[in-house]
Amino acid sequence: MERLKDKVIIITGAAQGMGKVHAEKILAEGAKVVITDINEELGQTVAKELGDQVLFIKQDVSSEADWKNVVETTMSKFGRIDVLVNNAGITYNKKMSDVSLDDYMKIVNINQVSVFLGMKYVSEIMKEQKNGSIINISSMNGLVGGAIGYTDTKFAVRGMTKAAAHELSPFNIKVNSVHPGVIHTPMLEQPGVKEAVEKFKETIPMRRVAQAEEVSNLIIFLASDEASYSTGSEFVIDGGITGTV
Ligand code: NAP
Repeated sequence: MERLKDKVIIITGAAQGMGKVHAEKILAEGAKVVITDINEELGQTVAKELGDQVLFIKQDVSSEADWKNVVETTMSKFGRIDVLVNNAGITYNKKMSDVSLDDYMKIVNINQVSVFLGMKYVSEIMKEQKNGSIINISSMNGLVGGAIGYTDTKFAVRGMTKAAAHELSPFNIKVNSVHPGVIHTPMLEQPGVKEAVEKFKETIPMRRVAQAEEVSNLIIFLASDEASYSTGSEFVIDGGITGTV
């Protein structure tokens, strides 16, 4: 079934991890996909692997100039933008005393400022189209506490989603946040994070981490016309962590 037939969908941070899996699954639903990432080599390789309905654009999501370029390049290649998945993000698992101001501003710029810039530039196109869906990837740490910096920015993404949904609803633009729990991706392989996840796994009500495909299914729903009356909402996918404990 082609639930996203001919939709043009931008996914940031999609050279690997969840973004890459979302791109694969979304393509199979008949969409045209723009993948962006800071890692140009990997991004180009993935785009080639995925075929001619995929365009790769190098992007630092914290750069305003790069966002303008992503929107312009997508419009000249595909002529419209139906869906934006603000997926790119970074994490670290440090105590507050070990986080420098540079560390802090880096995570704020990549996880939070990026979402503002993406929504700002893409919504201008969607307003003209009078249609669109913006999907902001937050985290379970946008609902409950976790590491400093990461939690802060993911709570911000949840709030920005609601502010944008309020402003953009009259233009038939939906804005929702997605709150994954622990998902198996390269992000979790980092030293410090990997050990923390192993310990944490036993406390998950479903006793396992999720595969990225499980999140893709939710993204496909939110990107599709099936999600016609949801906006400003939180979609949690965390094996019961925040809902049952
Ligand atoms: P990932 O495997 O680390 O992939 C993220 C991609 O984003 C990487 O290719 C990374 O490139 C790229 N990136 C980093 N900084 C960037 C920048 N400034 N501009 C553009 N691209 C950039 O991450 P993931 O685990 O798939 O996570 C995707 C999203 O889900 C993130 O927002 C994350 O916070 C959220 N999330 C993840 C989990 C989880 O358990 N994995 C749980 C909850 C929420 P480099 O590797 O070269 O830096």
